[in-house]
Amino acid sequence: MAAKEDYYELLGISRGAGQDEIKKAFRKLARQYHPDVNKEPAAEAKFKEINEAYEVLSDEQKRAAYDRYGHAAFRNGSGFGGGQGDFGNFTDINDIFSEFFGGFTHTGTAQQRRSPRRGADLRYDLKLEFLEAVFGVEKEIEIVRNETCPRCTGNGAEPGTTPSRCRTCNGTGEVRRMQQSILGSFVSVTTCPTCGGSGEVIAVPCKQCGGKKQIRSTRALSVNIPPGVDNGTQMRLNNEGEPGVNGGPPGNLYVVINVTPHAYFRRKDQDIIVEVSINIAQAALGDEVEIPTVDGKEKLVIPPGTQSGGVFRIKGKGVPHLRRSARGDQIVVVDVGIPQSLTPEQRRLFLELAKTLGKDVVPQQAKGFFDKLRDAFGV
Ligand SMILES: [Zn+2]
Ligand SMILES: [Zn+2]
Repeated sequence: MAAKEDYYELLGISRGAGQDEIKKAFRKLARQYHPDVNKEPAAEAKFKEINEAYEVLSDEQKRAAYDRYGHAAFRNGSGFGGGQGDFGNFTDINDIFSEFFGGFTHTGTAQQRRSPRRGADLRYDLKLEFLEAVFGVEKEIEIVRNETCPRCTGNGAEPGTTPSRCRTCNGTGEVRRMQQSILGSFVSVTTCPTCGGSGEVIAVPCKQCGGKKQIRSTRALSVNIPPGVDNGTQMRLNNEGEPGVNGGPPGNLYVVINVTPHAYFRRKDQDIIVEVSINIAQAALGDEVEIPTVDGKEKLVIPPGTQSGGVFRIKGKGVPHLRRSARGDQIVVVDVGIPQSLTPEQRRLFLELAKTLGKDVVPQQAKGFFDKLRDAFGV
């Protein structure tokens, strides 16, 4: 790689040059080397170099770095790119050019305006109850979107009339004009002011859409929510987004699920967790109890000696998997409730019980204690 030319030398200025001088030198060279003016093969590379030099020297911070470190200042990580001719983050030639000389840039907008474009996607946030998400539901939703105007079927002209070719641009959507400037003559291309780039003129606009080709409408849609969706699940409804332009396909509608929390069911992936409280006698003696599940009440056997925090699993009472027929489980976490007030009869019985249980305080094994903490906090 050839050694990079010094930015000051490139612009033909002294190291102490002021901003006005830098700008003046850049303008003069840009006029000379802009690829629209200078058709010599080396001109574009030269133009890029001049731009690069100007980018650096016109920015006091970058210039200071350059004065200290030379080209090395921009070789790594500064976003400038290293190699010669590598433009890195430099602005597009046309951007720089129009910034300085205004309005000569070539744009493809007229072309883009007439080519088919896909319609925009839409998003709908749908609130579901917990059980609706578990079992699925059919929901009616209303979305507001643009639709192809039914009266003119999307051409914008009142039925019986047709859009005609724009005479200003002869249907091209662009107006080309020769312009004289300090840089020589230019062809400037702009979007046709008569038709706005569409290439056609609507003499009698459609009464329903006013020539806009689309109308705003509220549309009711029926959405089939499958069992097992969760908070944040996205459903794609193909082609239910905004209509396409110039014959392009419509966008999609994304329905995003938002599940309202349940009073006592919680969800962890495909399992449903429910916490129940049993009394001290049930915990000590064991019992058969009824537990609420999403399918209704289920019998659960509490074995004698069940501790607070004990976990039981009821198979197959969880949430259906979205893409297969299996279901998760219901997980039952048992809390043993200690009575906060006692009737005289209960008090008498507890006192009697207390005599048989003794008064000794037994320290828990340290290991057991930390195991419990780990279980409780999942650490
Ligand atoms: Zn219409
Ligand atoms: Zn036109």
